Amino acid sequence: MFVHLCLLLTLIPLAVPFHLPLPLPRPASSALPATRVVVVGGGFGGLNAALALASSPSAAPSLSLSPPSRTDLHVTLVDPSERFVFLPLLYELSTSDADIDEVAPTFESLLAGSNVTFVRGAMSNLDLKAQTVSVEPTAADSSTNSSAAPAPSSLPYDYVVLATGMPRPKLDLSPPPPEALHFSNLPAALALRGRLSSLISDEKRDKRCVVIVGGGYSGVELSTNICDRFSSEGVGADVHLLNRGGELLKRSSSEYNKKAALKALEEKRVSVKLHTTVRASSRDGAGRLELSLSDNSTVPADLLVYTSAPATPSLFDADRSLRVVSGGGAWPNVFAVGDAARVQNATESGTAQIAIAQAQVAAYNIAASIDGNRLLRFNHLDLGEMMTLGSNSAAISALGGRVTLGGPLASLVRRFVYSARMPTQGQAFAAANLAGRSKINSKRDAQKKKKKKREDCDK
Ligand SMILES: Cc1cc2nc3c(=O)[nH]c(=O)nc-3n(C[C@H](O)[C@H](O)[C@H](O)COP(=O)(O)OP(=O)(O)OC[C@H]3O[C@@H](n4cnc5c(N)ncnc54)[C@H](O)[C@@H]3O)c2cc1C
Repeated sequence: MFVHLCLLLTLIPLAVPFHLPLPLPRPASSALPATRVVVVGGGFGGLNAALALASSPSAAPSLSLSPPSRTDLHVTLVDPSERFVFLPLLYELSTSDADIDEVAPTFESLLAGSNVTFVRGAMSNLDLKAQTVSVEPTAADSSTNSSAAPAPSSLPYDYVVLATGMPRPKLDLSPPPPEALHFSNLPAALALRGRLSSLISDEKRDKRCVVIVGGGYSGVELSTNICDRFSSEGVGADVHLLNRGGELLKRSSSEYNKKAALKALEEKRVSVKLHTTVRASSRDGAGRLELSLSDNSTVPADLLVYTSAPATPSLFDADRSLRVVSGGGAWPNVFAVGDAARVQNATESGTAQIAIAQAQVAAYNIAASIDGNRLLRFNHLDLGEMMTLGSNSAAISALGGRVTLGGPLASLVRRFVYSARMPTQGQAFAAANLAGRSKINSKRDAQKKKKKKREDCDK
């Protein structure tokens, strides 16, 4: 216990978003017209950049650039969805271990009290000469009563931040069967949650079969969590994990996490197939989906979940100050952050950690450009890696693998660290509260189920 406590204390720096030693930009005179900043995409990069630019009092402490807040910026955030999505918690949402308001709070609630104007719509064109962002409005969603203003068709800007994330890849099978989905966004996670629930409640089925494609973080984390979802309900299921390459978790630099993940897959009896892809699909006599695999085997699938990243993501090239580069020069007022940015000489990309750090740098650099100060260069500081390996297990590796933690305590720490990384303080408290309650409830449920099992055996 003492060792665990020491580990927990050493991990606390992970929970505190790191703070750049930023010189404060000079607040501009309020007599000047406001500088218009349009941020396109409200994910980790875009939302955090918008909050940092607006120096929102509700922003997480690491995001305040120049307190007290600047009054010379007019910040507009554009996103087609009405919710920010904390993607690393999609596993918990899919397996009913977390609620939508913890994982995907509305922009309306996150931006309340800030100076950021939210426009719901998708950027359809960026006119660099005219300095306008064209916006295609999104059809209203019936699930919330959003009071967001209707999207204007064109937003003029002085500065723009491009933070549109990774595009969704196409599924291998064409046309994709109704059982297939790509696990990369909120609608897919909610669809998966619904399908898992209906598979569990389908008492006519003797054994369910789930096929997950892609042996990166998402494939491994999803497989272990889906296994736990079925076993917590006492329902039989076969979970298959297919990987095109010969190695799982190729991007992970943590040997500790890799070992813990392989152990979890083995313990949960996930059937792992390397060098294997889905070739074709058909139906058996009962209408059940059957997949033909590249190793010439077939497997039934009640659910087929793709997790792989797009082969050729469409990216904006950016210099180390995060200004978009084209034709050999940098656009001084166009910045790119997060998954959408391919930063010169950067070896790492594609994590929320990087998107948040880049959001800070881009926001600072916009303020510095306005004030005529020197721009910061983005340098990645790797804080470590956390993986969920089931409803009550995780693996954490920090400080280049010098600090590691596994099992139920790591699962709890991961959930609270993620709460601390929520974009606003209000959401951080709400998420920590919901996470705490969900952990207590799942422990209570597990105890109830154990007791019932004992009683059934005694009968
Ligand atoms: C299932 C899953 C689990 C993950 N787990 C982890 C993890 O544990 N740790 C980690 O560090 N990273 C994790 N990642 C990766 C991490 O979430 C991303 O690297 C991070 O979200 C990138 O932030 P972003 O702002 O660039 O993009 P996103 O967060 O994807 O946000 C992009 C935003 O742009 C919006 N958008 C798209 N097109 C347009 C348009 N045309 N106009 C306007 N808006 C647009 C989208 O609606 C979205 O809100 C995970 C990713 C997934 C899918």
